[in-house]
Amino acid sequence: MVEAKTALDVALEQLRIAAEKLDLDPGVHEMLKHPKRSLIVSIITRRDNGETSVFTGCRVQHNDARGPFKGGIRYHPNVTLDEVTALAMWMTWKCAVADIPYGGAKGGVCCNPKEMSKGELERLTRRYTSLLLDFIGPYRDVPAPDVYTNAQTMAWIMDTFSQFKGYSVPECVTGKPISVGGSEGRAEATSRGVVLCAREAAKLLGLKMKDATVAVQGFGSVGWNAAKIANDWGCKVIAVSDSRGGIYFREGLNPYKVYEHKSKTGSVVDYPRCRNITNEELLELECDVLIPAALENQITRANADKIKAKIVAEGANGPTTPEADKVFHEKGIFLVPDILANSGGVTVSYFEWVQNLTREHWTLDEVNRKLEVKIVKAFKDIHKISKQNEEYMRTAALILGIGRVSEAIKTLGLWP
Ligand code: NAD
Repeated sequence: MVEAKTALDVALEQLRIAAEKLDLDPGVHEMLKHPKRSLIVSIITRRDNGETSVFTGCRVQHNDARGPFKGGIRYHPNVTLDEVTALAMWMTWKCAVADIPYGGAKGGVCCNPKEMSKGELERLTRRYTSLLLDFIGPYRDVPAPDVYTNAQTMAWIMDTFSQFKGYSVPECVTGKPISVGGSEGRAEATSRGVVLCAREAAKLLGLKMKDATVAVQGFGSVGWNAAKIANDWGCKVIAVSDSRGGIYFREGLNPYKVYEHKSKTGSVVDYPRCRNITNEELLELECDVLIPAALENQITRANADKIKAKIVAEGANGPTTPEADKVFHEKGIFLVPDILANSGGVTVSYFEWVQNLTREHWTLDEVNRKLEVKIVKAFKDIHKISKQNEEYMRTAALILGIGRVSEAIKTLGLWP
């Protein structure tokens, strides 16, 4: 299913489209095509059997005109520098769309966490952090979780960074456990944002969230929480999946029970009373809302015309290619693009950073209220641009985000 295009091809194509619409200064366009800094590291770690392994990792800092670099760290066997560069670029646009004072970055380590013990992952994370020490920090670059990293990974990063400084620096990373300075609501924030965006889109289409049918690809942090929130808001979650495949139950699954099943068996597959389906079949199901929450390039020219959802809310980064965007537009599918739909995660990461810097701890209610205000405003701003200029929602989001970044670059000027 995967097209020959890489995530970076897609990101550069999106930048080109937005640059044209914005009549972007060619110098600024050229600058934004390239990350400000990319660091490649070799991470030597001791395995449980006493042998050593070397993993390749990187951190790409795309642009910091609007504030310190910000972005997740991904552990995955297919991580490449190109993919991480694309993800860093999307972070720059996303932080601008969410209107939070950050630039964009991303990190990755090419490894298979499923085949590593907790001890091996801890040693890998601490060694990787030690190699990034001069490049990250609360006012430089603030990492967060992404695919196959989690709150525990962030705690190891915080501790390693703090040990080197000689004092506790919780604000050096976000998405931490609450016990070490994490924010209420961060674990669910990305998914809450996705479902809030789906709700706003549903309102525009005259659909009710209650009883809306939802299919979710990927049952990790973003997918499971999105399924849970959608279910709690009265939607019917009819299908979910993970890397091993999916399950379908027309009458609606109980995401909490599916989560228990996955915790016991390692996958959602073979959940009782459901039909096992492939990831391809899940994407093509008849439903009101489709939430891709796994990896890039899942909806392409090859399968876009088979998508039957009314709304696609992108929990994942880059799941839909520009060719598929066109097909969605022709078919009247309402797309909520990734840099808007999943911006709830980085928004609450920003709240976490602010709480750490001010040594405060906000209530869950306060965090959720502030998140809703920010994401609904971003949704409405983007929808307005889309209506006024007759643009796809994706292009409208890029116009808003890249326009803000370009404004900051021009205001700062070029040194020297
Ligand atoms: P995760 O590691 O918690 O979960 C990933 C899920 O995807 C797992 O269930 C895995 O089994 C599944 N998966 C992997 N390969 C798959 C495949 N080929 N087909 C179907 N499913 C597959 O990761 P996550 O943090 O939930 O991230 C998911 C997506 O959301 C990524 O694109 C990530 O960049 C994006 N995202 C995450 C956050 C966040 O706060 N964690 C924020 C914004 C965007």
